[in-house]
Amino acid sequence: MSVLVLAETSEGKFKKSTFEVTSYGKKVAEQLDTNLVVLAINATENETLYKYGAEKVLNVSDEALATFNAKTVANIVKQAAEKEKSTVVIIDSNANGLYLAPLVAVNLNAGFASNVISLPSSTSPFVVKRKAFSSKAFNNCEISTEVKVIALAKNSYGVFENEVSGTTESFSPEIASSNLTSESIEQTTGTVTIADADIVVSGGRGLKGPENWGMVEELAAILGAATACSKPVSDLGWRPHSEHVGQTGKPVAANLYIAIGISGAIQHLAGINSSKVKVVINTDAEAPFFKAADYGIVGDAFEVIPTLIEKLKEF
Ligand code: FAD
Repeated sequence: MSVLVLAETSEGKFKKSTFEVTSYGKKVAEQLDTNLVVLAINATENETLYKYGAEKVLNVSDEALATFNAKTVANIVKQAAEKEKSTVVIIDSNANGLYLAPLVAVNLNAGFASNVISLPSSTSPFVVKRKAFSSKAFNNCEISTEVKVIALAKNSYGVFENEVSGTTESFSPEIASSNLTSESIEQTTGTVTIADADIVVSGGRGLKGPENWGMVEELAAILGAATACSKPVSDLGWRPHSEHVGQTGKPVAANLYIAIGISGAIQHLAGINSSKVKVVINTDAEAPFFKAADYGIVGDAFEVIPTLIEKLKEF
């Protein structure tokens, strides 16, 4: 028996979410009194996963897997799960993961829960908490099949070190080709992508025009943050669509989300409310964002942001 985690890589390096999914998988393995196995495809630093509790890394290395192909990867996960007799398979709830996880569940005849935010509250029956309706509601989901597939919501568990003496084993599954490909292009104007960012600095229509984004980018650069925007801002062409966050844009689950000149419409909040700490800067004290935010500054962005930048530069 084992718990199997699928690692996600970008240019051979593990994404931060992989460390969270591995930390989570280790804890689930402990609950089930079994081992944690991580399946890594075209990864170059497998040993880093030992730090987060991976007792075994199954390393698949194949040029044919350079482009993400959900059906092909789902088939590899199936082979790995069968080889390792995995009863729980854990995948990150990002775009590729949510595409892949149901296919894995079908392959393994397994029950599936997406957007999971907790460790199993009980392993027999197997019950996990998941978020629903854009995080407006939560439900406890019992998975009664022998094999269970879980997609873990980003930033819901955290990254925990749990050093083990792991081993890496080369794994050569059958790689069936499929035309179900998806190319994931992470665009960013800064150095950090929205999906990987710990901090996101986001601007709305309150910034008046694209010419005023210099201060948003400067603030983001100082904080090592990704830049994002509300839907109207990308619709107006002030910023690229890849920066649009919200219900119909990218979801954000950052540790810190700074909203500048964004009113806090329900469709915007739906996409960002998984962020841990939300800060709003808005001239209108009645803006709905203040009800959702942890901290708020009622003020003009054109005064507040330059002051903030100045103060941060002093550190
Ligand atoms: P506004 O609502 O115009 O707000 C601008 C804010 O800036 C105001 O609160 C104002 O007080 C403040 N402000 C003005 N001047 C300053 C200043 N100098 N300093 C500081 N603050 C200032 N929106 C999204 O963002 N993401 C989505 O995914 C999304 N999906 C949608 C899906 C549907 C089906 C629909 C119908 C709408 C969707 N929307 C989405 C749009 C959403 O309803 C809002 O219209 C949008 O979020 C508002 O963007 P905003 O806050 O930038 O602009």
